[in-house]
Amino acid sequence: MAVQSMTNTDTRDVEATSAQINALDEAGCEIVRIAVPDNDAVQAIPEIKKRIHLPLVADIHFHYQLAIDAIKQGVDGIRINPGNIDKEKIREIVKTAKERRVVIRIGVNAGSLQKDLAQEYGGPTAEALVVSALRNIEIFEDEGFDLIKLSLKSSDVPTMIEAYRLIAAKTDYPLHLGVTEAGTLVDAAIKSALGIGMLLYEGIGDTIRVSVTGNPVHEIPLAYSILRALKIRMVGPEIVSCPTCGRCQIDLLALTQKIENALIGRKDYLKVALMGCVVNGPGEAADADIGIAGGRGFGMLFKKGKATKKIAEKNFVPVLLEEINSMLKGKKEV
Ligand code: SF4
Repeated sequence: MAVQSMTNTDTRDVEATSAQINALDEAGCEIVRIAVPDNDAVQAIPEIKKRIHLPLVADIHFHYQLAIDAIKQGVDGIRINPGNIDKEKIREIVKTAKERRVVIRIGVNAGSLQKDLAQEYGGPTAEALVVSALRNIEIFEDEGFDLIKLSLKSSDVPTMIEAYRLIAAKTDYPLHLGVTEAGTLVDAAIKSALGIGMLLYEGIGDTIRVSVTGNPVHEIPLAYSILRALKIRMVGPEIVSCPTCGRCQIDLLALTQKIENALIGRKDYLKVALMGCVVNGPGEAADADIGIAGGRGFGMLFKKGKATKKIAEKNFVPVLLEEINSMLKGKKEV
């Protein structure tokens, strides 16, 4: 299960695009897509490739020639929106991709469904998205091409879920999951956790993207949080913290934010519990690798539910980070 994202820099700006791709890489992104709207963006591809390590996917919306040229410039995959490109032109793209063994994602999007399908189905319904994908698969298979990946995105969560369920029942091609135009952080997290999460829980999906308006680096922790919550990939520190109540006598929010910030980008899995009090804290977080349960001006450090030592509140952050760092040494994704 791979985590994807997409840059929001001007692709023609090689330095800015490479820097964002490398920041995404650092955050744990595993496949990155760039918009390729014109020939200057195509020309930037080899320069970007020199500066990055992630597999690079070119996103092509209208011009089939850009897709062909992007493949020739060395991208690892392309994403085309079949609603925007003629059937015959798609065949030409497929021929080039076949020669160079480049993966093509057929990215059906509710916002740009073929007109005849929108008319026939009364809009971008799940069924219409599936028919659009199947139509294109047929063209690809006709050309003897099977390096296909599919996505059937919609900003409407139930439509997206239904579309993926239907297509998963009809083909075995890998599926890239995402809720499109999901909004800013909170909405994007909730819609994606529901849409992507429900499908993953049913065993549907091979790659995911949590779309967030703004810096794409923010997408990565959200994606991993979904994967961890479903126990699909235990990667990165998992921080559990209580909501606090009248028993809490420490500044738990500040502590949680400081620990979260200090652990950003860590890939090793570790469950850290930050609890407001000792009444329920250690018991409720018994499965955590390490944690703190607050008291009045102090906290009890516990490991796997067992209290180990008392720490003054002012030392919470340094002591916890030191302990976490020594526990993470040599620990990998589980
Ligand atoms: Fe309240 Fe303690 Fe539970 Fe936190 S751990 S919610 S402070 S009882």
